[in-house]
Amino acid sequence: MEILAQHYQEVCDRITRAAQACGREPSSVRLLAVSKTFGVDAIRTVAACGQVDFGENYIQEGVDKIQQLRAESATAGLVWHCIGPIQSNKTRLVAEHFDWVHSIDRLKIAQRLSEQRPAHLPPLQVCLQVNIDGGETKSGVMPNEALALARAVVALPRLTLRGLMTIPDPAANEAAMLAVHQRTAVLWRELQSGLPDQALDVLSMGMTADLELAIQAGSTLVRVGTAIFGRR
Ligand SMILES: *Cc1c(COP(=O)(O)O)cnc(C)c1O
Repeated sequence: MEILAQHYQEVCDRITRAAQACGREPSSVRLLAVSKTFGVDAIRTVAACGQVDFGENYIQEGVDKIQQLRAESATAGLVWHCIGPIQSNKTRLVAEHFDWVHSIDRLKIAQRLSEQRPAHLPPLQVCLQVNIDGGETKSGVMPNEALALARAVVALPRLTLRGLMTIPDPAANEAAMLAVHQRTAVLWRELQSGLPDQALDVLSMGMTADLELAIQAGSTLVRVGTAIFGRR
């Protein structure tokens, strides 16, 4: 388990160095530890290092871990982010258990989440997933439809729109990858000017392989699995 603490520290150091290299405050980049496929023991260890935000892809697997860890005092305050695709029949589970959803890409899912968010919980914090590199089979709203979806999501009472999320395919080289991330950052700023009353303070992009480039392009939240927990 010590190895997890070491990997976790290495990821924190990568984020600090990447932010400093482009003149940003390291604290302006939030780390989401992506714990999908790993068990609650590994999550407890990383939480004991001070990590608060955890991301899960598979709804039922995530809910099982959330229920178990919320019942323990050391991990009761963890913040849970749903980052995977959501089918209509899973929205209630998501609305009742998660704090954040990064993978909103159609209005129907957003409407169901808003309707099903329990009254005793704060609004669900959401990001729109954007298909920034246009892969035909990929999830995510197309960039030219993002503003319209954002306007509709902002009108839903039990959701708070916080920004954008992307999962671009690996590009041919670092310059090409950086350019893709920069396109997302431009879209994010366009959304901020289109919806000036909303905070839209989150740009969720960058994973184990490309977090430095994402931070250089302006990411405020990197989602890191492999570099912390190991290979899946
Ligand atoms: C699995 C996953 C990650 C983490 O990817 P790593 O390459 O393991 O860091 C980040 N975001 C999403 C949406 C994922 O599904």
